[in-house]
Amino acid sequence: MDLIFAEATPPGRGGVSVIRISGDGARAIAERMVGPMPKARHAYFRNLVDRGENIDQVLAIWFAAGSSFTGEEVAELQLHGAPVVVRRTVRALLDLGIRPADAGEFTRRAFLNGRMDLAEIEGLGDLLAAETEAQRKLALRAASGELAQKAETWRAWLIEAGALVEVSVDFADEEVPDDVPERAFELIETLRGELKHQIDGFSAAERIREGFEVAIVGPPNSGKSSLINRLSKRDVAIVSDIAGTTRDVIEVRMDLGGLAVTMLDTAGLRESRDAIESIGIDRARERARNADLRVHMSDEGQRVPDLYQSGDIVVASRADLRAEAGTSLPVSSETGQGVDDLLALIQEKLTDQTASAGIVSHERQRTELITAFDALADVRELPVELVSESLRVSNSALDRLLGRIDAEDYLDLIFSSFCIGK
Ligand code: GDP
Repeated sequence: MDLIFAEATPPGRGGVSVIRISGDGARAIAERMVGPMPKARHAYFRNLVDRGENIDQVLAIWFAAGSSFTGEEVAELQLHGAPVVVRRTVRALLDLGIRPADAGEFTRRAFLNGRMDLAEIEGLGDLLAAETEAQRKLALRAASGELAQKAETWRAWLIEAGALVEVSVDFADEEVPDDVPERAFELIETLRGELKHQIDGFSAAERIREGFEVAIVGPPNSGKSSLINRLSKRDVAIVSDIAGTTRDVIEVRMDLGGLAVTMLDTAGLRESRDAIESIGIDRARERARNADLRVHMSDEGQRVPDLYQSGDIVVASRADLRAEAGTSLPVSSETGQGVDDLLALIQEKLTDQTASAGIVSHERQRTELITAFDALADVRELPVELVSESLRVSNSALDRLLGRIDAEDYLDLIFSSFCIGK
């Protein structure tokens, strides 16, 4: 593959900027600029020279093909992080006939060279996009190949079961009893158990990756916007004492103990003759219904009956004006009373929802696991030949999970969200 280069660090001023070059001859190109680098994976402190002129003092490293991120020969130049230095270096590389990399092209090469599987790449993409601790942890597990390791074990079981089944097929030709050995079914059942566990843990893992939604619901003027302002410590929602001011759904994204949470301030829920307000209310109900959790707010600490789901939180608002809250949590956005308790409660409820999280957090991965799982349903009832076929279908789904087959369709999609230089 041809030589590509990119700035691997974000553009702009900083301590260092890293330029990465990948492809056959990457080392030679770097050496034309910084002089000889005899050993791989050693850092050389050098002058970077372009057309006889010193451009910068840099650290230069190279990696041999087969032991680099992309699997190709790679050179990295660590420049001083000044845009003008980067520009000069980029121009020098272009003059040497090297092509700027597309977004995600280094990772694409890593995939094509067998350095990473598709699930690891999805994990790496998640890691680069992670904002909270829980997202980082989940992404790192995926990026470091945890799913691939599991899939390898699963495939080994399928292969063993397949071999046992093949043996009984051969015997069948010779009119010897053609029972599939019990061990094959045991392997298949164990595998189905593990697949089911991962499939069941999908929604929780997906929530960790994409973030939770918590809707604040209640009648107009019950203090929802004031609460969201208090939570976000900035004026994002319009607070006013005229009922029906929040016409749409306002979102505030926050990090709650490592979980990414989007708080939704919904339009006041009431009957309305105003067409625009009605649309807002419909939207609010829909979002609130689908949210992971609802905080019901009213002066009296009552639920919104048609939106209430088990586990929801009910608060009595404007607690500073009232002494009694009944069984509801008293909260005042004015004084801050109860706000920390409310946040702790939300965090606790969402953390409970993550308890079952598996490592599969992408719909694509889930689909393949379901295919692998479904293919193995009721195998005991099937004729021997069809058992073999079921095992093959299941195995193909695991191959697709890792991108060993049919990966092309997904690559463009995955890399479209990657940065240049990754
Ligand atoms: P929403 O329509 O449910 O979003 O309600 P708002 O947040 O706009 O609040 C309605 C009115 O109640 C505004 O005048 C707020 O200033 C007032 N308010 C909101 N929360 C509190 C509170 O905790 N204590 C007091 N005293 N007033 C509040």
